[in-house]
Amino acid sequence: MDGAARATRSIPDRVAAFREAYRRERVGPRYSGRAHFAFTSLGGLSVIGLALSRVEPGPAAEWLTLPAVFLLGNIVEFLGHRGPMHHRRRGLGLLFHRHTEQHHRFFTHEALAYESPRDVKMVLFPPVLLLFFLGAIAAPLGALCFALISPNVGWLFVAAAVGYYLTYEWLHFCHHLPPDHPVARLAVMRQLRRHHEAHHDPSKMQRYNFNISFPLTDWLCGTLWRPEAPIEKRRRDTGT
Ligand SMILES: [Zn+2]
Ligand SMILES: [Zn+2]
Repeated sequence: MDGAARATRSIPDRVAAFREAYRRERVGPRYSGRAHFAFTSLGGLSVIGLALSRVEPGPAAEWLTLPAVFLLGNIVEFLGHRGPMHHRRRGLGLLFHRHTEQHHRFFTHEALAYESPRDVKMVLFPPVLLLFFLGAIAAPLGALCFALISPNVGWLFVAAAVGYYLTYEWLHFCHHLPPDHPVARLAVMRQLRRHHEAHHDPSKMQRYNFNISFPLTDWLCGTLWRPEAPIEKRRRDTGT
């Protein structure tokens, strides 16, 4: 029996019913999860390759752009997820709908794995979002860095921003793999997956584990969920 079949057996009825309806009503017959994954990956890698190919020899400090953008990306990921993805905000209702009302109902802590390549539609951002991210965020901010700091910093900004986007997409995809997939079984992936699994528990999703890639900002902001020690749980339950 493969992982998907094993996962199917333990899926709660309400999740199975939501998945059925979503697949029937929202996933068209021509949708391909593999094509979706390939578009996101190859599109992102092409932009990163193009941007890096334009970097010319210059001061070593310019390369600090990469870790700086990764830190910034981690904070934006946290704020975007804790904010509009989990709270309905004017003009950003689509984010709330797609994340809280769809992604979190399709995947819960009891049913974190996708069952077929067609379910990838509920894991990755829509392909058009990569184009939006490029055109509305990475390119204008990169151009600003290009003009105000240096051309190299501009290109490195674009490479790092798209790199972060891709890291987010790939890691989130790995969190929703069947648990016996070889990638999901890597020690580091098991650790990150547990972090995301706790977030998918409806009782925790509004309060804990908002980082989807690396839980750095969760750690800084005190929103990392940790299982209660048995003695603390007993004290809370008994009020002693
Ligand atoms: Zn998820
Ligand atoms: Zn969430």
